[in-house]
Amino acid sequence: MKLKAFACAAVLSVASFAAEKNSWHFSKDISAGGVPQRARWDVDHKFDIPETGHVTFDFTCSNIEPCLHFTLHARKGSNWISYSFTPDIVSGEKKQIVITRKDWNLKELPNGKLDDWKGFEGLRFSIWRAVDKAFSVKCSLENFTVHAEPAPVIPKRIAAKLPPRANERRLAWCHRAWGMSDKASWDYTIRKLKQSGFTDVIPNMCRPGGAYYESNVLPVMPYVKEHGDQLEACLKACRKYGVKCHVWKVNWNIGKSHGHVKGFVEKMRKAGRLAVDSAGKDTRWLCPSHPDNRRTEVDAMLELAAKGVDGIHFDFIRYQWMNMCYCNVCKNAFEEKYGKVPSWPKSVILDGDSRSISDLQKKYVQFRCDNITAVVREVSEKVRREYPNVTISAAVLKRGGENDRVSMAQDWGLWCREKYLDFVCPMSYETSLPFFRRCIERAQKNAAGVKCYPGIGYSVMKPRGDKPAMLAEQVQAVRDAGFDGFTVFEYTPPTATALYNQFHE
Ligand SMILES: [Zn+2]
Repeated sequence: MKLKAFACAAVLSVASFAAEKNSWHFSKDISAGGVPQRARWDVDHKFDIPETGHVTFDFTCSNIEPCLHFTLHARKGSNWISYSFTPDIVSGEKKQIVITRKDWNLKELPNGKLDDWKGFEGLRFSIWRAVDKAFSVKCSLENFTVHAEPAPVIPKRIAAKLPPRANERRLAWCHRAWGMSDKASWDYTIRKLKQSGFTDVIPNMCRPGGAYYESNVLPVMPYVKEHGDQLEACLKACRKYGVKCHVWKVNWNIGKSHGHVKGFVEKMRKAGRLAVDSAGKDTRWLCPSHPDNRRTEVDAMLELAAKGVDGIHFDFIRYQWMNMCYCNVCKNAFEEKYGKVPSWPKSVILDGDSRSISDLQKKYVQFRCDNITAVVREVSEKVRREYPNVTISAAVLKRGGENDRVSMAQDWGLWCREKYLDFVCPMSYETSLPFFRRCIERAQKNAAGVKCYPGIGYSVMKPRGDKPAMLAEQVQAVRDAGFDGFTVFEYTPPTATALYNQFHE
């Protein structure tokens, strides 16, 4: 048994250092299942990133279809900055990748910023998998070059005007609990949405530590006292303009301090309800196996269902990553079910680079999935019984299958097969059209016949000037693939303008 597991998980890796300067060639066989999540290679390379300049390299990939995206990290000492890319190419085609200084992501730095951009020492190239099946891949990064002059300006693309389409369901996530901006009321927000031909809104009204409505389950944000119940205001506008309202709850994820009442994190820490990461530190995430956390998540969803809404919407209905939870509540619950763990938590921890998975780790993957699914199932059973007119939906990850089970413990294919959900909104946020097409195709399969309204990540598309063109392309792709609608992330004033320009009649 052990031998078999090892043989299946064997990963061949080659990083060859070509004679030509600043060029690297990588190849790997990736085994079936959810591990490894990525294949990565490190190379030494000294360079600076000039302030107004840019770096370029020529990229090819022998087998692009099974890849989720590619990441290039630049290393300076023990610090990393990163750039993710999804090139619009077919397998074997070459494309020049251009990275300006502002394109680099600094979130892995200790303070999220970098003062000195000189003295980088190495590069890390990663391929993230999109599919569960085994595949082989070869990639080249050639002619890595630092340019002192600014990157050439690429002309803005013109957005196509889409033909009208009857009975298309158009949904929009709205992140702010008080409307699309500080200045726009719910009445204005919903009126504008309706004028843009949208049928449904998904307003984010609560996190574990704060609700923007009168709640007996969650702590109520001070905003409610000053400005009134925001769910009531949103619902009133939705009724007035004929837009359906699916209240969005952020599950488990406490988020930044503006998203919860004062003292919430300390209170949860004291009660032992925070998830503990693989380094033994507590996090701003509620432990999904803690009975009080589970109870609160279920009760909060049921309380929303009772408020006369059209639907309730799960989000962050998962773990943050493979890095949690290893608290004592989890240890006891796991050992009660599966027996004593020889070395806790070492024997159950996985990470994105893990090349094989032991029987115990497999059980821990299942344990984490079961903790999340338990909440979805209980909410679904109770809502179906007590509020049969309320629909149940979720924002879900973009791969489905074993990948999403192993990484974040979100078994959303099961939730669809078991009909716990009425519809799903996969967060298929992509800049590249071919990657978007593959992503929604995967989602369609994983949704197993349950209604699926793919997410279009308008707010996170790049470059900014091309966003209206990308919106049109992606809506057309959704139509071409046979979906009945889509969900736009997220409704802010710039998104509102783009949607109005594209869809108002
Ligand atoms: Zn835990």
